[in-house]
This record gives sequence, structure tokens and C-alpha cells, in this order.
Amino acid sequence: MVIKPMVRNNICLNAHPAGCAKSVERQIEYAKKNLKAENNSPKLVLVIGCSVGYGLASRICAGFGYGAATVGLSFENEPSEKRTGTPGFYNNQAFDKEAQKAGLVSISLNGDAFSDDTKTKTIEAVKEAASKAGLPAKIDLIVYSIASPVRTDPKDGVMYRSAIKPIGAAFSGKTLNMMDGTFSPTEVEPATEEEILNTVKVMGGEDWELWMDALDKGGLLGSQTRTVAYTYIGPESSWAIYKNGTIGKAKEDLERACRDINKKFSGKINGAWVSVNKALVTRSSAVIPTIPLYITCLFKIMKEMGLHEGCIEQIARLYRDCLYTSDGKVPVDSENRVRIDDWEMRDDIQKAVMDKMKIVTTENVFAETDIAGFKHDFMEAHGFDVAGVDYDSEV
Ligand code: NAD
Repeated sequence: MVIKPMVRNNICLNAHPAGCAKSVERQIEYAKKNLKAENNSPKLVLVIGCSVGYGLASRICAGFGYGAATVGLSFENEPSEKRTGTPGFYNNQAFDKEAQKAGLVSISLNGDAFSDDTKTKTIEAVKEAASKAGLPAKIDLIVYSIASPVRTDPKDGVMYRSAIKPIGAAFSGKTLNMMDGTFSPTEVEPATEEEILNTVKVMGGEDWELWMDALDKGGLLGSQTRTVAYTYIGPESSWAIYKNGTIGKAKEDLERACRDINKKFSGKINGAWVSVNKALVTRSSAVIPTIPLYITCLFKIMKEMGLHEGCIEQIARLYRDCLYTSDGKVPVDSENRVRIDDWEMRDDIQKAVMDKMKIVTTENVFAETDIAGFKHDFMEAHGFDVAGVDYDSEV
């Protein structure tokens, strides 16, 4: 069939296999050029949430940048008679194919990261990957990069649903429709107590801790093991909906989990970190109110200043300049967080972005902002608008 993009309300309903593969190849090339294996670089890596966005970049940088054996876990839909698969399904296929060509060990699993059964299967897969690569069965790096709307608690079988809402007062702002540059007013009611707790349950740190416990029981943690999970803070203008909202509460819990993992496994593993990453266009971020407008302005300014990065550039910098530095030290802020949002949060950049956000209208949005770049990244995240792909041919 010939596959054309189907986009509704900043959500893309399908994906293009050839475009996804090309996009993975582009990121692989970047990782190969910009990272080099050293004595201390990771050799056995588990990425939980490996198929798109930051998780995919984390796996590509480990595999193709450092030559690591990787096990990747994600939850993606296979294609059916009527529907294409989800982008991550095709990305995993492309990753495995390229890894095989390059002689790298890679195992991709599809399953619910929150379940005990998936954790058991993943432990077996990590042992298998270690054995295939001739490595001791101790993981060097565990990346936790899950973004999910729901989680079923393995203890009681209850399904929790996250909500992206403000706390205390309603939030009103304008949401940019990236397809045509129009704005729609957005009004989001404040979260209930239950919605706050549910969001923490889904996007907080509990599951990361359960993973560390399971991997420990499986005998896969060692003195060199490092683990990292990702968060976002962003500018004050987004705090009502992000940092001070339900998702921010969940991210506070992620940081709490990081401290608890460090306490619990002190002396046993090398350490756990939360890395604050840049706002980027992924399938998750495009649907958070006000974030698309902020990102289009941010990209415009950062591109003009020559400081723009996408997922692969961010993660290559995270590995090279933070997690795997030549002296082994991890630079952190006063809260023990790694900051690869440092360029985004620079005063001059933030000031320019805030000034721009004030003047953007439907009439000038194409000239004043990088809406074209936002749209391109969004389409590319689904395998569309990728150079070198013939979208009129049958796949
Ligand atoms: P994404 O939606 O692009 O990727 C999410 C990944 O989680 C996918 O691989 C998906 O398959 C996997 N996943 C979801 N539910 C799962 C489940 N039940 N079992 C197994 N796998 C599951 O997300 P992203 O934007 O790359 O975000 C990853 C992390 O980075 C999140 O913690 C997010 O908060 C953080 N972050 C994102 C941004 C941003 O701008 N996108 C910025 C800073 C931090």
C-alpha cells in the first residue's frame, strides 16, 4: 500500500516504515561520528522505552556510538491488515537490522514495562545478550525512558491513568496547531487529588525502583552499573501546566526515587541520576498544551544561535560530557541532577523566546517561529517527511 500521513489534533495516527528506517539510519550516523568507545564506556545496556524519542536515541548512542550490546524494551503495535504499526515498531526493526549488519548484539522486546512478567523476560534477554556478546551478565547502563498514559500496578492489578493538568487553579493558554499555524484557546481544569495521585503512579519513580529491585534479584547489577531517567523542567511560563502540575508532581517523585535508589544500592552500583533534558518534539510532547508554541519559538532562537539539538544530539552530549566523561565524574546541579537543558535554559535564550512568544499570531507564525521545523520533526517521528524516501511507492 501507499502510506500518507493521517494527522488529527497534533496526533499522527499512522507511520511509514521506510521513513522510520531512514530516520534511525540518520541517527546511527550521528552517533558513530560523535561518540567513541573508551575503557569506561558502557558495554551492556538496557533501555526501557527504547523505540522512539529519547529512549531510541539512548539506545542508538550506546549501540552505535560505543559498540554496546543493547536490550531494548518498548510497547508498540504491530501492523495489521487495516493499520500500519506504530513508529516504534518500525524503529526497533530498523535498529535490529542495522545492529546485525554492524555485528552488534541487540535484542528488542515488546511488552508492558510495568508488568512483572515483562521484567522477568527482560532479565532473561539481558543474560542472553551478555552471553552472545561474551560479556559478564552485569549491566553497565540502565536507561529508564518511559512516557505512558496508563499503568497497571502489578501488585493489585489496578489500572491508573495519568492526566496533564494544573494543580489548584485552571490553566488557560493557546495551543498551536502545527499543521496550519492556527491557535485554539485551551482551558484545562485543575486536577483532582485522585488525578494527581494517579499521574504520580504512572509517570513517577515507583516503576523505576521496581525495575532496579528486579534487576538486582536477577543478579544483573554490579559496581559499574549506572542508571538514568529523564525529566523536564522548562521555563516559568509553562510551570502552571508542567512543573507545578500533575506531571511535575510525578517528576518530583522520579527524583525521590533516584535518591532512594542511590541509598538502597549504595556501594552496590555506581549510581542513579535524573537528567533534565531539552523540550523536543516527540509523540508525547506535541499534545501538552502551550508546549508546541514554546518549542516553535525555542527552535527558532536556538537554530539562529547555532545551538539547536534534537534527541540524538542531546543524548550524545549526555553520554560524552556527563555520564561517561574521561575522569568518570558526573557533573550535576545542586539537586544532583544532570542538566542537558543547560543551553535551552540560558538566560539570553529564554529572554529571546519569551519576547517572541508574546508577539506570535496566526499571521506571522510561519515567519517568526520555527513551526516548519516543529512540523518536520513531528512528521519524521512517524516516518514522514524524511529525505530520500519515495512516499508515492508501495510499501
Ligand atoms: P516517547 O513517547 O517518545 O517514548 C516513550 C517510550 O516509552 C516508547 O519507547 C514507548 O514504547 C515506551 N512505553 C510507553 N509505555 C510503555 C509500557 N507500558 N511498556 C513499555 N514501554 C512503554 O517519549 P519521550 O518524549 O522520548 O520521553 C521519554 C522520557 O523523557 C519521559 O520520561 C519524558 O518525560 C522525558 N522528557 C521528554 C522531553 C520531551 O520534550 N519530549 C523533555 C525532557 C524529558
